[in-house]
Amino acid sequence: MSLLIKGGLVVTAADATVADVFVDDERISLIGVDLDVQAERTIDAAGKYVLPGCIDPHTHLDMPFGGTVTIDDFESGQISAAFGGTTCHVDFCIQGQGQTFAQALEIWHAKANGKTLIDYGFHIAVTDLHDGGSLEELESLPEQGITSYKLFMAYKNVLQVDDETLFQAMEVAAGSGALVMVHAENGDAIDVLVKQALAAGHTEPRYHAATRPPELEGEATNRAIQLARIAGCPLYVVHVTCKEAVDPIRRAREQGWRVWGETCTQYFFVDETFLARPSFEGAKFVYSPPARAKWNQDVLWNAVRTDALSAISTDHCSFLWDGQKTLGKDDFTKIPNGGPGLEDRLKMIHHFGVNEGRISLNRMVDLLATQPAKLFGLYPRKGTIAVGSDADIVVFDPQKRETLSASRHHSKCDYNLYEGTEVTGAPEIVLLRGKVLVENGELVASPGVGRFVRRAKFGEPLAAPAEAVAS
Ligand SMILES: [Zn+2]
Repeated sequence: MSLLIKGGLVVTAADATVADVFVDDERISLIGVDLDVQAERTIDAAGKYVLPGCIDPHTHLDMPFGGTVTIDDFESGQISAAFGGTTCHVDFCIQGQGQTFAQALEIWHAKANGKTLIDYGFHIAVTDLHDGGSLEELESLPEQGITSYKLFMAYKNVLQVDDETLFQAMEVAAGSGALVMVHAENGDAIDVLVKQALAAGHTEPRYHAATRPPELEGEATNRAIQLARIAGCPLYVVHVTCKEAVDPIRRAREQGWRVWGETCTQYFFVDETFLARPSFEGAKFVYSPPARAKWNQDVLWNAVRTDALSAISTDHCSFLWDGQKTLGKDDFTKIPNGGPGLEDRLKMIHHFGVNEGRISLNRMVDLLATQPAKLFGLYPRKGTIAVGSDADIVVFDPQKRETLSASRHHSKCDYNLYEGTEVTGAPEIVLLRGKVLVENGELVASPGVGRFVRRAKFGEPLAAPAEAVAS
């Protein structure tokens, strides 16, 4: 199938030009002004933006956590992503107790199998290098296209690793071509504060934030940066929320160290007061690290504008408020940590970032697509509009008005973090490798079209695969 997208403003991280984009089969084959080509279908994109499909480097679909499982599986999660203009994500494959990485990967591949609407990769969440997983197996992962792994410095007695394990994993990454990701909070100190809060009878959702102060995120962020410096590996700090964590990342980057940070949509909009909402509504906003004091939102906008932080993800990890979050009705430590948002990232960042003058359109593309692609071994096959790249494209209507709501979103979650928020600008047509996924508010593809992507080693380009030409 060939497709001509005519006369839109083609926006990349670097440029914005009115042009035609010609898609032949799965890839972009020509970009130019008034292209003289025959196509099986022409899309009139006059007045619209033509953006690369967004990439979400941080999601949790079909993940067991806190005694329950996230409500969005690969099907509902990826449908939700597609409606929001996200055409590729990297999900966390969690190594269970005593499992090898191969066993964990087999489980996660099975979760995705037959349900996929968008392309996807896996990070490994390393929880144990002694019983099941090993340093040798970790070293071999990049050869299978698993080129990043995350370690938790928090969630004591659940997912947390000690510094020995973290440092060993970093040394492996330095030699194997992997990117190390960290959830940076000091889990030991949090554990003490949580026990003190419960002993004092403080059980409401707001104590989730009170027992995870920003200093403990700053401490762990700085510790990870220094350890990565010694190990010689590249480091990516996930879900950065506050000045205490932005500052050490900024300093490291100013030194030219191989350190990057991400924040998530919700940290720009949800602040710590949301957790104090009455009637247990605060539980909707329980995720880690927690929402912070509102002034940090300006810190984060400034950080993404100045490249102290390099990407915006969603950390989509959705639980029903009614039935799952309520597990913690009498004890905030039993509220499953996580929130929805996979569908809303582009619309929220476009409206409050670009429309309100905080970041440029190019920087938005950079943060939501190009930087995630470059950091996670997907570039230039994904993350930009270029000849030879996968035709993962969003035709975006900058004038379209929408009100975000759980009643309209495609996640199975029964609430929306941005309920009632009005935005101007939304995807109109979303393409995955030249196939229409979503058009005018309708899903037009069937589950199974998304493919697993074997990602390139850190810093290496990802070329288009041979099979893409044949299909
Ligand atoms: Zn996460």
